[in-house]
Amino acid sequence: MEISEFQQKMRDLYIHNDKKRGIYRTCLWLGEEMGELMSELKYSIDKIDKHAAAEEMADIYAWVASLANLLEIDLQSAILSKYNKCPKCNSDPCICEKNLP
Ligand SMILES: [Zn+2]
Repeated sequence: MEISEFQQKMRDLYIHNDKKRGIYRTCLWLGEEMGELMSELKYSIDKIDKHAAAEEMADIYAWVASLANLLEIDLQSAILSKYNKCPKCNSDPCICEKNLP
């Protein structure tokens, strides 16, 4: 499935609810899902529930798609134009390792 197909699927499933909720409240839901993912990842790697983490990641993608639909942003174009190469060093693969936080 292409990113654009996923975004269209989310539009078909949820645009009526997303429009009622609005941009700001949809963004709040995205933030909540980020918190839930962070909660899943607070353990050492051998104790992380990968199924639960995967579900939180799926939720995050769904909420990002909902936001993009409300803002009429083409996610696939945005992602591919920004991340075709590393946006910082303009290389593929990235050679920014000297500046890792
Ligand atoms: Zn880089």
